[in-house]
Amino acid sequence: MTFTDLEVAVITAAIAKGGDVWNDETLYDIKQNIKTFYRNGTDGHCCYCRRRFKGEFKMDIDIEHVLPKSKFIDFMFEIFNLNISCKRCNMMIKKERIDFLVDVSTILLNAKRSDQYYFIHPNFDYYFDHMDHDVIIKNEQELVKFTPKKAKGKYTYDFFKLTEIEVNMFDNAQGIKADEFKNTLLNLPIDLQQDTERLLKEL
Ligand SMILES: [Zn+2]
Repeated sequence: MTFTDLEVAVITAAIAKGGDVWNDETLYDIKQNIKTFYRNGTDGHCCYCRRRFKGEFKMDIDIEHVLPKSKFIDFMFEIFNLNISCKRCNMMIKKERIDFLVDVSTILLNAKRSDQYYFIHPNFDYYFDHMDHDVIIKNEQELVKFTPKKAKGKYTYDFFKLTEIEVNMFDNAQGIKADEFKNTLLNLPIDLQQDTERLLKEL
């Protein structure tokens, strides 16, 4: 995604105006375009917890600034620094934090390097290299399990408290206990897992 000349002009004017740049009303259409771009690119899910934006959950889409816009103004409109996330991950957990950066003092120079981020970067890392995300649909319920595979997966799991999402899904799943789910998952043939993934994409 690149901004058109007109969009760049609008962004430049908003920055020149100062104040609460991100919430400048002239940027509304541009922000919608950014959301659409990342919704298409990510199949419409939160870049950190993988929950899909559908139904009422669509209302919860935030444009995520990996490097927080409050601390890194120059990256506010850099596409490589943006993605979409849910309000839980963005506003309740990540907020203005920068402790996921390997070296704050050099990040301006190294902002495009995956190895400068402890967690799975939405744009520079392939999520599933670092974490398995198993989803089973049982009737109307979805059961979710995250399995970190590498250090970034483990960091992401802890940072974004993904265990809460697993637990919530379990709580919501009537008639299915966590142990039952784990057993089901372990016994699931690999082709069925792939079918599940495919089904999810079609939803
Ligand atoms: Zn999320």
